[in-house]
Amino acid sequence: MARTRRPLIAGNWKMNGLKADAIALAKGVADAVKQAGWTDREVLVCPPATLVSAIADAARGTGLLVGGQDCHAKPSGAHTGEIAAEMLRDAGASHVIVGHSERRTDCGETDAIVRAKAEAAWRAGLLPIVCIGETLAEREAGKTLAVLETQLEGSVPAGATAATLVVAYEPVWAIGTGKTPTTPEVAAAHAHIRKVLTGLVADAAGVRLLYGGSVKGSNAAELLAAGDVDGALVGGASLKADEFLAIAKAA
Ligand code: PEP
Repeated sequence: MARTRRPLIAGNWKMNGLKADAIALAKGVADAVKQAGWTDREVLVCPPATLVSAIADAARGTGLLVGGQDCHAKPSGAHTGEIAAEMLRDAGASHVIVGHSERRTDCGETDAIVRAKAEAAWRAGLLPIVCIGETLAEREAGKTLAVLETQLEGSVPAGATAATLVVAYEPVWAIGTGKTPTTPEVAAAHAHIRKVLTGLVADAAGVRLLYGGSVKGSNAAELLAAGDVDGALVGGASLKADEFLAIAKAA
């Protein structure tokens, strides 16, 4: 049976990259994506906002997708330093990450703010990747599934569909640490996310669920094979073309 949820491998470059090196990295990934000609998976890079336009230019015609790492909820106005979803779209982005744990922690983003950002993404014609995940303390207290449920209920806007929503499960303690949950733990979290989505999204079975947290070339195949995993959100390993492409190949 044909797979209905096309895997998405997304790279989050975070606050890394100056123009020359970033374009070289994007070109390395874009050339390989073009050569592979994948129709059974999607590959996305999310550079810093300053580079979205240049990376979109470098990726044009190759099949490599480009996204933002965050957006403001409003389309314009007196919000110094912020980036509207419309600006990302105008710069060539098709996707935007919202609610990354670093933003939830560093910038105090609540589920309500994340939901408003996801709605802003829709308004601008972008596909939001809504991030959720438990802290180590929450996991050790046995609260993982309850935390995921609360975050989903608060962060996923009403009216979301499989075509307008991607969810990334990123255990906070696995981000940038080299630690990962076991594949049964990933599968259990994703099964629960899918179950909760059933009450929030009409076609929940079609929503893509990405796993994120210390994914690299050597563990990608195992993590991507866990139940209900439809791709990966990759931080550190997305800054090296070979490593990121190894993950894309494993999808
Ligand atoms: C992330 O920041 O979304 C992430 C998953 O980072 P890393 O792959 O470095 O753990």
